[in-house]
Amino acid sequence: MKVKIEGAGLSGLAAGAVLATEGHEVVFYDKKEEFDCPEHISAVRNYSNFSIMNELEKRGLEEIEHNGLIRNTFRHSPNYCSKATGEQPIFYLFNRGSDRDTLEGQLYRRAKNEGAKFRFNSNCSDPDIVATGSSRPDIVGFGYNYRDLNMDRDELHVFYNNDYASKGYVYVTKTDKCGTIAAVSFEDNFNELRENFEKFLKKDSVQGLVDRRERIESIAGYATYDVPRTAEKDGSLYTGEAAGFQDPSKGFGIYYALMSGFLAAKAINEDKDYDNLWKNEFGEKLKKQYIRRIKLNRATNNHYDNKVESIGTEVNINEYRERTRKTSRLLKTVYPMHLAYRRLKHLNFIQQ
Ligand SMILES: Cc1cc2nc3c(=O)[nH]c(=O)nc-3n(C[C@H](O)[C@H](O)[C@H](O)COP(=O)(O)OP(=O)(O)OC[C@H]3O[C@@H](n4cnc5c(N)ncnc54)[C@H](O)[C@@H]3O)c2cc1C
Repeated sequence: MKVKIEGAGLSGLAAGAVLATEGHEVVFYDKKEEFDCPEHISAVRNYSNFSIMNELEKRGLEEIEHNGLIRNTFRHSPNYCSKATGEQPIFYLFNRGSDRDTLEGQLYRRAKNEGAKFRFNSNCSDPDIVATGSSRPDIVGFGYNYRDLNMDRDELHVFYNNDYASKGYVYVTKTDKCGTIAAVSFEDNFNELRENFEKFLKKDSVQGLVDRRERIESIAGYATYDVPRTAEKDGSLYTGEAAGFQDPSKGFGIYYALMSGFLAAKAINEDKDYDNLWKNEFGEKLKKQYIRRIKLNRATNNHYDNKVESIGTEVNINEYRERTRKTSRLLKTVYPMHLAYRRLKHLNFIQQ
């Protein structure tokens, strides 16, 4: 069967690589001039009985490699720091961009080797899969890549401080290719995020991590999240952020991009109902993360201090999860109203 995919980013490539392997005639259409993605390092969680590496293997994509393992995570609030360690990797790191070793680069090569065709700088009519990524800046990110950073390769540092990344965090990590320091804010004020991030970089503790290493380039982007009722429209299956599939609590969209791509491929390949597939796989997870976002939107620096102090200075990742997992009943009750209000606001029915 001929399958037209609009968007050759993560979720489109995940769907296309699987469908091409299954023998479908896959054609990608992307508005970009060529296969080209911004470079940085991304982290994918590995601590809730879920492994993205197993999911790739299950789909026959066993050659896709990660670029690093995180066993030590450091959560910093303005005045406290808590270290969580794991015997199993806590996160997998992936280089991003269009090079051969990146997540996109590896999926692109696999799809191409299986016969998929790529039409860049072109539009698609009647796509089977819409994988066009973010459409609205619900989350904004800004940061820099460095040639290297003064830290171990199995470490990830996360800084919670509204002075530097409002309602979000700054993360610092590295692979053997480069290091990334980036701020993620759950507000749409990009200029403010950038200004605050520059202040963050001047902190002594951050200067210690940078330690005069060469800065290579800046990274900027935005992300869109929702808990959609359906991810099918006019006969097309929507994957990744085009459907709103993005973690509203932390912005870990790679899980959703890959899984929704795989499920869209399954729906086409096995003639299954796509909405049923994604709702069963991650509908509840998306809802829980949305509820966590309602809470995080009200977090102050004092909250961050209390939280990080209460976790303890050094815990294993299972203890960390137990101490941070509670979901409030009240928030569960207000969730549908919050979501409905947010949707109306985006439709401009409600003026700010
Ligand atoms: C700076 C940054 C850091 C991030 N870090 C992490 C992280 O550490 N961990 C994590 O899990 N997630 C991270 N994410 C989020 C993750 O990268 C995204 O959620 C994921 O890439 C979304 O995949 P997608 O397929 O929906 O969209 P994308 O990967 O953005 O792909 C969309 C594609 O569609 C194309 N396109 C758009 N419009 C059209 C059109 N009209 N016609 C044709 N083509 C079109 C675009 O050119 C692009 O190629 C980060 C995102 C950013 C920006």
